[in-house]
Amino acid sequence: MDVDVVVVGAGVAGLAAARALALGGQRVVVLEARDRIGGRTWTDSELGVPVDLGASWIHGIDGNPLWSLASSFGIETVEFTVGSFQFDGRPIAWHGPSGARLSPAAAAAFVADLHTVDAALLDVVAAAPPPATHAVAVDTALRTLRWEGDRAARVREYAAHRSEDLCGAPITLLDAHGLDDEHVAGDEVVFPGGYAQYAHALASGLDVRTSAVVRTVTSSGSSVTVELTDGSSVSAAHVVVTAPLGVLQAGAITFEPPLDPEVVDAMGRLGMGVYDKVFLRFPERFWGDDWVVRQQGSAGVDWHSWYDMSRVTGEPVLAALVGGAGARRIETLPDALVVDEAVTALRRMFGSAVPEPDAVRITRWAADPFARGSYSYLHVGASPDDHDRLGTPSGRVQLAGEATWGDDPATVHGALRSGLRAAGRLLGTEVDADSLAAPVDR
Ligand SMILES: Cc1cc2nc3c(=O)[nH]c(=O)nc-3n(C[C@H](O)[C@H](O)[C@H](O)COP(=O)(O)OP(=O)(O)OC[C@H]3O[C@@H](n4cnc5c(N)ncnc54)[C@H](O)[C@@H]3O)c2cc1C
Repeated sequence: MDVDVVVVGAGVAGLAAARALALGGQRVVVLEARDRIGGRTWTDSELGVPVDLGASWIHGIDGNPLWSLASSFGIETVEFTVGSFQFDGRPIAWHGPSGARLSPAAAAAFVADLHTVDAALLDVVAAAPPPATHAVAVDTALRTLRWEGDRAARVREYAAHRSEDLCGAPITLLDAHGLDDEHVAGDEVVFPGGYAQYAHALASGLDVRTSAVVRTVTSSGSSVTVELTDGSSVSAAHVVVTAPLGVLQAGAITFEPPLDPEVVDAMGRLGMGVYDKVFLRFPERFWGDDWVVRQQGSAGVDWHSWYDMSRVTGEPVLAALVGGAGARRIETLPDALVVDEAVTALRRMFGSAVPEPDAVRITRWAADPFARGSYSYLHVGASPDDHDRLGTPSGRVQLAGEATWGDDPATVHGALRSGLRAAGRLLGTEVDADSLAAPVDR
């Protein structure tokens, strides 16, 4: 046997698992398909300042292992509690369907409507007969309230955008329970130096091999052999595979024998959502002091939410965040068309003086062969337990990664915890996240 454990994937789940195992005395190798580490945490500097093309936020710092690791690793943070599609609590500008900004009274009335519907949704979702979609749950709540016309339309579109943002999925495909886990405990923070700092800190001292694309995982007797697309292989006593759900669903990695039926069935029921970012760097700021600008109505079907990244980068950068069908559509367009649409949307709200951007950065996570989407979601008909089922070991092979963590899927801290769970199973003891700050001797 070459090593004790092979970890497939150098995202946060894989690196957390590998670090915990190495600190526990195991010989570990991490095989990563890309020429970089970090996976869906990816900090890029093409705009002249670091921006996060994947994850940006710690979704709630209270009790979050990433929060204590930020200080252990010396990672600077900035408070920016608008990362979970909040509709109040921080400065948010609402623009009506015409593009004009809503008056403070109109904005307050709309926010009050969203609170009312969210309260009504609790009961509706609790009583939703499976399989029911979140779209049906919202319609039921609106019927109960007897709201119609524009009032109901604005709420419906907000609910649709929340599903696209938090789950990367159209609300008509999201299970009624698909937002049950979306509680944020405490403030949210982002990283001026980028999320990738975690991956680099976690990888320090580990044997991480990049440009190593895994093709097959074959278990036989007391060992598992992992074969790469270049024909090389590594054998180990155990394997932890952290490739994203979209990659697994596409069959890009073959398991021999196949993973246990309960794992395969859960994989088939869960969904992989799409969520993309369009960063625009302008010569100067033309927007106000709000942290987020949101556009209502048909003009905001895809271009509904703009985040002021100058708060994080110190430079005049705006980010449009687009999920679901909008993201899939935008991924098919050339950059120039995406920028045209984005600037048209901004001019509708801020007027014709909005300049062309100096530089742009556009993500395409669905088209990325090593992600095949942005994060997992509860597709209608799936059970919340399917996330943890996906992480059930099949003999010497177990899956980890955000999609396998039922409490907080689709997050970096969920990915981290799933990696620690996988490592803990192999070490025979629970692993505390704070222990990852210790140096690894090789
Ligand atoms: C645009 C976007 C925004 C997001 N925003 C947030 C946010 O603000 N906050 C938050 O908490 N979460 C956010 N997320 C989700 C978060 O990024 C993920 O949940 C988390 O990073 C997943 O980590 P992971 O280790 O499970 O998977 P990954 O980071 O995807 O790691 C898996 C690794 O496996 C590798 N791999 C794939 N196939 C193979 C193969 N065949 N062989 C070898 N290696 C392979 C991949 O290259 C990758 O490096 C966002 C995600 C996206 C895409």
